[in-house]
Amino acid sequence: MRILLAGGGGFIGSHLADRLVARGDEVVAVDSFVTGRRSNVRHLEDSPGFQLVEHDIVDALPAMGAFDVVANLASPASPDDFASLSIEILEAGSSGNGNLLNYAADCGARFLLASTSEVYGDALVHPQKEDYRGNVDPTGPRGCYDEAKRFAEAMTAAYSRRKGVNARVARIFNTYGERMVPSDGRVVNSFVLQALRGDPLTVFGDGSQTRSFCHVSDQVAGLIALLESDYDKPVNIGNPEEVTIADLARMVIDAAGSKSPIVHVDLPEKRTGDPGRRCPDIGLAGSVLGWEPQVSLREGVAAMITYFRNHEHL
Ligand code: NAD
Ligand code: UDP
Repeated sequence: MRILLAGGGGFIGSHLADRLVARGDEVVAVDSFVTGRRSNVRHLEDSPGFQLVEHDIVDALPAMGAFDVVANLASPASPDDFASLSIEILEAGSSGNGNLLNYAADCGARFLLASTSEVYGDALVHPQKEDYRGNVDPTGPRGCYDEAKRFAEAMTAAYSRRKGVNARVARIFNTYGERMVPSDGRVVNSFVLQALRGDPLTVFGDGSQTRSFCHVSDQVAGLIALLESDYDKPVNIGNPEEVTIADLARMVIDAAGSKSPIVHVDLPEKRTGDPGRRCPDIGLAGSVLGWEPQVSLREGVAAMITYFRNHEHL
């Protein structure tokens, strides 16, 4: 297949590119590198199945020929970017996603949207199933991201209905692993970096809030299974192994053999509205994709620690 992969220079996007190129697909990665890194795809640049186009999806797309698949993973994703890149996030989810949908419609390509568990907001039901409509504050600090993704889902559904675009929507839950930017503020990479430096691990609040972390290798397998399936409604892709953030901090210290202390700090102002509990119900992914995650949090954290030791300036 020939695949346009927007956000292909990012964390998840570059792992997806690896997997697709390895199986013989041709990948054209489109990335502005607003949050991604060229080093994520440098090893692919000499591969005949890979091409990199540096471009912002919000601007009119260049002619790149016909594709079998258009995948949109292009959006800043760390809550630390929600303040500084709020408008860029909204534009990526609206006009950027629209440009990609139009490209897909024009060449009859299948479309994949990387949506998010954030469409559920600070969820009032637990675990979260796809039919839950969410609890989102549109004007709070997270609103730019949550509403951009909700709009992107709505726009994708509209292009499906009106223009016949064959679309897949992945609601991605917290995903971590090798190639995350260590300092982008997300929790697993922050804790790994702090533990390896011997710095205090900064738990926001009392650390009783939960998340359910999926290793990137499982996430990419889920995205490919969704892409290849016949199921055209949103599907949760995540790992239901739910932990408190305080437990995650202890696990990272233990896995790194670190002497770092754990400190509790006030939730930063820009993270107001931090969801209290998050865990995917992945029953639908199991039944329609035959997919479930394979990597435990402990195994994934250990792999990430090894990778950070070998590849990052600590
Ligand atoms: P990332 O920041 O590493 O990847 C996003 C990539 O998109 C980056 O390379 C960035 O430079 C690029 N990009 C952003 N805006 C762009 C634009 N306007 N034009 C072109 N390129 C642009 O983040 P990630 O964690 O790999 O996330 C990938 C996708 O998955 C995002 O859409 C994100 O919202 C979604 N997602 C991620 C998670 C997670 O836990 N990692 C959870 C839910 C959803
Ligand atoms: N968090 C934390 N310390 C940090 C970074 C994050 O305690 O240094 C917490 C944050 O408050 C949230 C959870 O970890 O409850 C996950 O944060 P992350 O930014 O990874 O993703 P989110 O799920 O909030 O989008």
